[in-house]
Amino acid sequence: MPYTSVIAGLFRQEQPQIALMGATTAGRDLGPRVSSALHSGLTADCTSLEIGDHYVKKTDTTYKNLLYQIRPAFGGNIIATIINPDHRPQMATVREGVMKKEIVNRNYRGELKRINVSEFIRPEDLAVEIIERHMEARRVDIKSAQIVVAGGYGMGSKENFNLLYELADVLGGEVAASRAAVDAGFAGHERQVGQTGVTVRPKLYIACGISGQIQHTAGMNQSGKIIAINNDSMAPINSIADYVINGDVSEVIPRLIKFYKANAR
Ligand SMILES: Cc1cc2nc3c(=O)[nH]c(=O)nc-3n(C[C@H](O)[C@H](O)[C@H](O)COP(=O)(O)OP(=O)(O)OC[C@H]3O[C@@H](n4cnc5c(N)ncnc54)[C@H](O)[C@@H]3O)c2cc1C
Repeated sequence: MPYTSVIAGLFRQEQPQIALMGATTAGRDLGPRVSSALHSGLTADCTSLEIGDHYVKKTDTTYKNLLYQIRPAFGGNIIATIINPDHRPQMATVREGVMKKEIVNRNYRGELKRINVSEFIRPEDLAVEIIERHMEARRVDIKSAQIVVAGGYGMGSKENFNLLYELADVLGGEVAASRAAVDAGFAGHERQVGQTGVTVRPKLYIACGISGQIQHTAGMNQSGKIIAINNDSMAPINSIADYVINGDVSEVIPRLIKFYKANAR
């Protein structure tokens, strides 16, 4: 999320005065500092945002157009909606992938303010000195994949995950996993989708042997189309899937690979 959106949100005078930052390393560092300086409060790592009203019975007051800052709480056992009725701006950091990437409008012209940071920050404010920068190439990038083939505990083993790599290869996608699959050692944590993993929003998400617990679906339910492959016709994932293939992954996936290989142009 570009910081221009933060600045725009901060200084816009009309309601609801919202300031958002990406829950990236930089956003998580900068967000609390800005909110502390403004005495505004901040909800970190939101997985969803909405606008709505809030009625306080005690004072018979209705607050209009508040930002509902939605995120898991208490170890992920509840999804909390947090509001900030009294202070402005309403601030939140938002997980990558939560917001849909819009197509860039090249004609849009924002106001660019160049601020000389050295006027505001003294050398003694900087407690950390960067001695050397070492950038390591990201090996797995499931966030920007348009097709994600995800495997769960129902895949049965690390070896069976090879079927997912093969399917992802044929489709030009990436392989992801549920936490149960990661915990079982079928895939690395960098591939985990969900509340304690990453949030993805691909055009197509194929969930193979994944039951569809809320902690998993929170990280993929905004996918364009969802295909669920599961041998349990009552699996919760089926209720959010656009297409359900009721069957054993070890039979269905090889048939999909064969079909796509035969029909790929
Ligand atoms: C605080 C907290 C945070 C969490 N964060 C995450 C998170 O980030 N991501 C996440 O994924 N989970 C997370 N979890 C765990 C989550 O609650 C579930 O336990 C997990 O998502 C289950 O993974 P699964 O669906 O792969 O496994 P299971 O729930 O065991 O489901 C396996 C599925 O595979 C099907 N299956 C079995 N064999 C076959 C077969 N041969 N062919 C086809 N289908 C088959 C079964 O019918 C079942 O639906 C979190 C939990 C907590 C408490």
